[in-house]
Amino acid sequence: MRENLTCFVSCLQGANTFNFFVLSSALIILSMILVRKLEGFESKLRLFVFANISALFNIPLVFYSMNYTMKCDSSLLNIYGIYLLLIPAVFLLSMTLYGRLLVRKYGIIGSEKILPWIGEFVGDLVDAEVYILNTAIPKAFAMGRKIFVSGGLLEILSREELKAVLAHEAYHVKNRKASLLKGISMMTFLPYVIGKDMELAADEFASAVVGREHLESARKKLREF
Ligand SMILES: [Zn+2]
Repeated sequence: MRENLTCFVSCLQGANTFNFFVLSSALIILSMILVRKLEGFESKLRLFVFANISALFNIPLVFYSMNYTMKCDSSLLNIYGIYLLLIPAVFLLSMTLYGRLLVRKYGIIGSEKILPWIGEFVGDLVDAEVYILNTAIPKAFAMGRKIFVSGGLLEILSREELKAVLAHEAYHVKNRKASLLKGISMMTFLPYVIGKDMELAADEFASAVVGREHLESARKKLREF
């Protein structure tokens, strides 16, 4: 292992990419440390993914260096490759875990128990389950095939406004792949273009289903909350 490491370093030095490698690695480590200190799940996740994207940039560098000198054992590179393959898995897992965390923190109620029409309404739009989070904070989001709305949201929105929010989230469930891209673009500080388009499209969809005025009054209520 030690030999491998020495050889690895000499490869990078041979290809004149060592400094760059050290710099980007330092950036990765720094962001990993910052992740622990940051408050809030979203910023943590952003930084985490940012660190991993930086790591991704290291890969061509390492390949280039290895090929340049052609004398290193590739086991380190293999480990690195496995790590990179794990990143999407970790990303997806962290989303799932976040959902579970919220459920554990607030508790959920299947929507069919209190408002059966919700499941029927959403079922007509997309194949998804709706859960009600037991919190007064008004929020709604989609995760995988699940849509979460909070008790607080039910409290402040009228039925039509709630439908608008549900339709918006249903659109996200329909376009899960694009949502993943949106998440990644958001969390890597890349332009929000995909995210904005997605939100506009989801709003467009919701407006088509329930009428723009309901969507807008729901937004207004949420802003003023
Ligand atoms: Zn949205």
